[in-house]
Order: sequence, then C-alpha cells, then structure tokens
Amino acid sequence: MRVMVSGGSGFLGSHLCEELLRRGDSVYCLDNFSSGRKANIARLLRRPGFHCVPCDITEPFRFPGTVDAVAHLASPASPADYHRHPLETLAVGSRGTENMLRLAESRGARFVLASTSEVYGDPAVHPQGEDYWGHVNPIGPRSVYDEAKRFAEALSMAYRRSHGVDTGIVRIFNTYGPRMRPHDGRVVSSFIRQALQEEPLTIFGDGSQTRSFCYVDDLVRGLIAMLDSAEPGPINLGNPEEHTVREVAELVAGITGSSGELRFLPLPVDDPVRRRPVITRAREELGWQPRVPLEEGLRHTVDWFAAETRARVRAPER
Ligand code: NAD
Repeated sequence: MRVMVSGGSGFLGSHLCEELLRRGDSVYCLDNFSSGRKANIARLLRRPGFHCVPCDITEPFRFPGTVDAVAHLASPASPADYHRHPLETLAVGSRGTENMLRLAESRGARFVLASTSEVYGDPAVHPQGEDYWGHVNPIGPRSVYDEAKRFAEALSMAYRRSHGVDTGIVRIFNTYGPRMRPHDGRVVSSFIRQALQEEPLTIFGDGSQTRSFCYVDDLVRGLIAMLDSAEPGPINLGNPEEHTVREVAELVAGITGSSGELRFLPLPVDDPVRRRPVITRAREELGWQPRVPLEEGLRHTVDWFAAETRARVRAPER
C-alpha cells in the first residue's frame, strides 16, 4: 500500500511509519515538526519506500500520484503542547483534518482519524464504551484539544455520509513507550525523566486518579488493523487494565532504582479522575487487544530514556 501518515515524525506516527515500512508499504510522512522530532525518523530516511514531506497540513497542499490509505495523526497531543499552541491545535483538528479528508476522497483512499479518549472528557460513565457521548467542558483550557478532536470526528462522519469516504475513527487512550519526549508533561515520561535525574516524582492530586496505559507496539498494531479494515468506528484502542497514577510512580521508581520520593501538587483544571476503555469493539471488529504488560513496557521505555540521556551527554547538540 501507499500510505500517507500525517504527524509521522511524532511519537506514535514514527512507530507507525516504521511498522508500515517493515511490512512492505511505501510511506509518506507529512509533518511540520512542531512537536515531532527529526531524530524519530532519521533511521527511516535511509530506507527505500520512506518519504518525508515537510509541510503544515493546515495549508492546502498538492500531492501527486496514488494513495491507498491516510493515517491522520497530526496534532499536538500532550497537554504541554496544546496549552502552548491552542490555536494551532484547533486549526489542525479542523482545517488539517479537512485537508486530509479531501486528499483521501480525491484518491478513493481509506482514511483513519487518530482521535482520543479526551473526547469523553471527565467521564460521568466508567469504564468508557464508544456509545458514551462524553462530558467535556467546551470552554475550559483543555477544550482546544478535546473539542478539536470532537470536531474532527464529526467532520470524518460527515465526509463518510455525504461524500462516501471510507473513514474510520479510533479513540486512543494513554499510550507510552520509546520516543516520548521527556518534557511532554505526560505521566509516564515525567516520572521516568524525574527518576533518572534522581528528582522526586511529581504527582498531581493525591495520585488516586486512574489511567490505563497502552504500550506503543500494541497501539500501532491496532492502528494498522484499523487501516486494513473497513470499520467506521469509533473504536477504542487502549489497555483496559486500570492503574492509579501513584502505582505507576512506584513501578517507575522500582525499575529505575530511584529513591521513590513523591511530590504532590494540585490537580490541574478539568483533569479527568478516571479513564478506562471498554475494548469489546476492538476485540470483535479488529481482533485486537493489548499484549504488553505495564511493567514490561515500562522497562523498555526506561531503557530507551536512559540510552537517550547517555547519547545526549556524549553529543549535547542532538
Ligand atoms: P506527537 O506530538 O508526538 O505527534 C504529533 C505530530 O503531529 C508531530 O510530529 C507534530 O510535529 C505533527 N503536527 C502537528 N501539527 C501539525 C501540522 N499542522 N502539520 C503537520 N504536522 C503537524 O503526538 P503523539 O503522541 O504521537 O500523538 C499522535 C496522535 O495520536 C495525535 O493526533 C494525538 O491526538 C493522538 N493521541 C495520542 C495519544 C497518546 O497517548 N500519545 C492519546 C490519544 C490520542
């Protein structure tokens, strides 16, 4: 297949590009490098079939030739990024999504939107199945991301219903793994960075809020299953095993051998208290479920962070 991956130099996008190349697809990575890193795709640039197309997908663009599938992942995704770029987040969720949908329509390609569990907001229903409509504050600080994704979902469905585009929506829950950025403000990357620097691990609230954490390899398998299917979704992709934030801090401290000292700060506005996906649909429609246990995934991630830190010490300009 010839696959376009918007946001292909980001955390999830770069793993997706790599896996698509591994199975023989040719991959076009569209990225403006706003939160993606060139280092994530440096090794791929030498591989036949991989093409990097630096561009801002909120601007109209032309692309010659056939396209079989479009994986639309471009968007700031971590709270640190979308708080810093609120208007860009809304633009890529709206104009950016429409540009990618138009591209898919013009080539008769499959289109998969990387949506998010954030569409459920601070959920009044637990765990969250796809039929739950969500509990989102439309004017809160997180709304630029949540509402952009809700709009992107609505737009995808409108292109499907009105223009016959073969669209699919996946709602991704917290995913972690190698290539997360140490300062992206996400729970796992923050804990690992702090532990490796022998700093106290920062917990917002009392740490009893729960999250489900999916290892990146599992998530990418789910994305590819969705690209290969004709399912419209939405389909939740995430790990239904629920952990408190405090448990994750303790696991990271154990793996890194750090002191495990915890520092408690106030919970940010609109921070969801509980999140856990129902993945019956993913199991039934895609034959997908996560395989990597949290501790194993955390060990891989800690190893990667430690290697990156050593490489940065050796070559500080990286
Ligand atoms: P990321 O920030 O690492 O990657 C996003 C990529 O999009 C970056 O490479 C960035 O440079 C690119 N980008 C942003 N705006 C762009 C624009 N206008 N034009 C071109 N490129 C642009 O984030 P990620 O964690 O890899 O997330 C990828 C997708 O998955 C996002 O859409 C996100 O909403 C979704 N998602 C991720 C998670 C998670 O846990 N990582 C959870 C839910 C949903």
